[in-house]
Amino acid sequence: MVDSLPLKNGIGSAGASSLDEVLRAVFGFGSFRANQEEVCRAVVGGADTLLVMPTGSGKSLCYQLPALAVGGTALVVSPLIALMEDQAAKLRELGLSVARIHSGLDRAVSRQACVDYLAGSLQFLFIAPERLRVPGFPELLAKRKPTLIAIDEAHCISQWGHDFRPDYRMLGQYLPALRPAPVIALTATATPTVQRDIVAQLGMVEAQKFIHGFRRENLAIEVAEVPMSMRGEMVCDLLTPAEMRPAIVYAPSRKRAEELALRLREVCSAAAYHAGMAAEMRDEVHREFQAGRLECVVATIAFGMGIDKADVRTVVHVALPATLEGYYQEIGRAGRDGQPSRAILMHSYADQRQHEFFLTRDYPPAESLERVYKALTTEAQPIAEIRARLKMDEEDFARAMEKLYIHGGAEVDFGDNARRGGDGWKKPYARQTNYRREQIALVQRYVDGHECRMAALVLHFGDVEDGRVRCGICDFCKPTSTLATPMRPMTRNEERVLRSVLDTLRNSTGKSLGRLANEVDGGLSRKELDIYLSALARAGLVVVEDAEWIKDGETILYRKASLAAEGERLGPGDELEILMPQSGPGAGSVSGSTTKSGGRKSPIGGNAAKHAKSAPSKVERKTTRPVELSEAGRELEQALKEWRSGVAKRLQIPAFLILHDRTLRAIAEAAPKNLSALGAIAGMGPSKTDKYGEEILTVSRGRSE
Ligand code: ADP
Ligand code: MG
Repeated sequence: MVDSLPLKNGIGSAGASSLDEVLRAVFGFGSFRANQEEVCRAVVGGADTLLVMPTGSGKSLCYQLPALAVGGTALVVSPLIALMEDQAAKLRELGLSVARIHSGLDRAVSRQACVDYLAGSLQFLFIAPERLRVPGFPELLAKRKPTLIAIDEAHCISQWGHDFRPDYRMLGQYLPALRPAPVIALTATATPTVQRDIVAQLGMVEAQKFIHGFRRENLAIEVAEVPMSMRGEMVCDLLTPAEMRPAIVYAPSRKRAEELALRLREVCSAAAYHAGMAAEMRDEVHREFQAGRLECVVATIAFGMGIDKADVRTVVHVALPATLEGYYQEIGRAGRDGQPSRAILMHSYADQRQHEFFLTRDYPPAESLERVYKALTTEAQPIAEIRARLKMDEEDFARAMEKLYIHGGAEVDFGDNARRGGDGWKKPYARQTNYRREQIALVQRYVDGHECRMAALVLHFGDVEDGRVRCGICDFCKPTSTLATPMRPMTRNEERVLRSVLDTLRNSTGKSLGRLANEVDGGLSRKELDIYLSALARAGLVVVEDAEWIKDGETILYRKASLAAEGERLGPGDELEILMPQSGPGAGSVSGSTTKSGGRKSPIGGNAAKHAKSAPSKVERKTTRPVELSEAGRELEQALKEWRSGVAKRLQIPAFLILHDRTLRAIAEAAPKNLSALGAIAGMGPSKTDKYGEEILTVSRGRSE
């Protein structure tokens, strides 16, 4: 199979040994890492390939080596300029012939790249996806076909991917003209839904899927229900023993990160890290942590990108993460050195409420979009005027506009003039909203879990085979060694309920959790049932799994519980030995008082319920009044707007997606002189500061001098 491809100027014959040879001779690596060889073989054999492996596992080699083996030019599509530059530089260092084309380069460089490509002298050509929209460029590529097409960070193609990029989505339509080269799509984060979308969007033929490497053997995962008010104290307790550090604590907001860091300083050296801090301070925290002088960082999600600290012992989440993919990335920062490490997640019912609040904020009801849609006409009008007419809050309006734009309900030009688009936006928007809702539900299901935590994550990423293996060290597999959820033997009362659950399941093929909760003697809340089922599943008596039910042509997913073989065998007189969480449901009802560690009678009572009610209203929501700008400020604002339209034109995206008017105004007011001052402005954040910071400062300095 390997020899069936014509080898133009490939290195040697691509037989079994030659892949090894190229690995050593060109890349200087002694051996393949796990799965690399298998993938390289498939690609060299001409198969369309989808590769899903975690960050740092060595995916690039899986297109680079086959590219050299088959010869000719590999076309590499990459969504981030920095990534592209980095990879191109590395390949060039290896003595390979590489060119790249993206918006950050001189025209002459791009032109030369095209000439070299057509002459066939390139081994790799890197392009940004938006290049394909430049008239004539796809045709140019098609004149001399690539021998391999690699799509890096392929999750960006999928509308389900969190970094959904319209430019990437159009990629599929250009590929047929570049065939018959095989297509290899690479990503570190693709759930089965996203995987299916990538394959369909790229028109991949009988794609071979390689989904590997998500299991982390040395990471003991624990998920604990802890009321919000107790989490700070618990984090301090957890991180007091020196062997639990270095540690990263993920907090849900800047404010919480600051508070927790302050508190943790009583235990160890600790600092906050979030997007609202000046860039220099963030860099310093990063450096100090990396160097081992700082033992604990309390971060919002911005921390960890690009951090490569091997000996992080503990990662704590003090709130429910928004997606399982994000959670997995974050806990993956513990124990890169292979030594035993811990990931502890704290959550409660209040977290769920908070996520619901964010969901309705980020995905406003279709009626809000409809209102904006109706205000659009076939004639383009400035979006600022539309907003003024609708008297909508700037943020609400921008959000509605953005959604309409993404889903085709509005056409917006680089000058932020909008006109009415097609009326088909409602369905895709509803689908996207549901997807987000489903993501939250998946996190919730994970924390309510009735199975090995690591297995659940591995399964989530689509590795069905490896997903059957229990890790043996998480709170489910080894409840006796948890830190945040102390276990105790069941009480009498709990035993009665546990037996009733088993009886209700006996002689059935399984029951939905809703039905089971009703049928158990005396009835149970879903939350209580979850705790009892977890205990029974841990003891190997019950299995809880996903099941499907088809209604009106739609597949409805639900959770189903049934007796495991061990549970079937258990007779009424046999002894039960089951561990319950310290704060389990039966504890309060027996003693009549709350336990020390739980501090609540029912999981949604007490503190948790109090927070559930107040949390959403407490979420920072600034409706800033427009600032009165000075003369100079107004001039700067105008200059910034002009700069922004230039960028919009260059990147071919609407200006409001680059920076909101309000952010521009805030910059004009502060007239920042350096990157750290700029980064501290609301609406900037690290990624925007990285991308546009220097340019904005140039505009700002040009005004004030
Ligand atoms: P990914 O794209 O999966 O995040 P990369 O392809 O960037 O990961 O690879 C991560 C690092 O691993 C790179 O520094 C790369 O040089 C190195 N690497 C890849 N394959 C091997 C190998 N077989 N032996 C040693 N190092 C490797
Ligand atoms: Mg990569």
